[in-house]
Amino acid sequence: MINTSSFKTRFAPSPTGYLHLGHAASALKIWEQAKQIPENFLVRIEDIDQTRCLSEYERAILEDLDWLGIKWSTPPRRQSEHFEDYKKLLNFLQSKELLYPCFCTRKDIEQEIANSPSAPHSSPAHLYPGTCSHISKDQQKELIEKGTPFALRLNMKNAIEDISSKILTWTDLSKGDQKTTAEILMKDHGDIVLARKDTPASYHLCVTHDDALQDITHITRGDDLFESTHIHRLLQELLGYPTPQYNHHPLTTDKSGRRLAKRDKSLTIREIRKRGISANDLKNMILHSNIDQLLI
Ligand code: GLU
Repeated sequence: MINTSSFKTRFAPSPTGYLHLGHAASALKIWEQAKQIPENFLVRIEDIDQTRCLSEYERAILEDLDWLGIKWSTPPRRQSEHFEDYKKLLNFLQSKELLYPCFCTRKDIEQEIANSPSAPHSSPAHLYPGTCSHISKDQQKELIEKGTPFALRLNMKNAIEDISSKILTWTDLSKGDQKTTAEILMKDHGDIVLARKDTPASYHLCVTHDDALQDITHITRGDDLFESTHIHRLLQELLGYPTPQYNHHPLTTDKSGRRLAKRDKSLTIREIRKRGISANDLKNMILHSNIDQLLI
């Protein structure tokens, strides 16, 4: 059960498109859990990827949330205005030798994995093969001085050694008690990127920082982010942050169980509004999982 005396939650859209039915469903679930109290509920704009985020989408998302009756009491934090905060975290992790620069292109990584003697079975394609972790400090300096673009990766082995507790736990209100271990972090996540070549921070870093900064006690989001919580728990431990309670909900699907995703533009709240459907009718359809009539 949720303890409402110290309850704070958030909806954190990335303005890379208009608010979609799936996101609206998530926002409404969160708003219901906040007991519809604006002080319990924050909106955060996760717009670090300046190549994909548009202020027009941000404006439209906020307007659509308002139309749905969702209210917040403090102005949304916009992540793109806080790159300095994220830089400080990266400097802190770097001072503990937990980061290294990675100069690889996507193609370099694919080739390295394909050339590995154990490929394809024991080198999952999503795991970084560690190429740049072997580069000497002098070589790193030389490449950086030459202006070679680089990302910053977490040295997962060092990070695991840095934390005192070897099993990290958290509660997921839908799925029960969860844990992560060194084995899971090494096998499923590896040396993840914490600052990208084109964006000086990553989703994982910014979201973990902001949830702590904003005293978020409950995080409700789609199942597509369930696995990311392993990384967020590790970052909380490395950075000395508290652990909120999580609630990962199933993604909205059509009648046949197919995920809605962004494939169907007619399922943006913008388009649904144009069809003359009222906010109340839409809310009822979403909250009772009765959205098939919208899928025409
Ligand atoms: N910004 C993320 C998204 O739009 C959600 C982040 C989160 O809820 O942790 O997918």
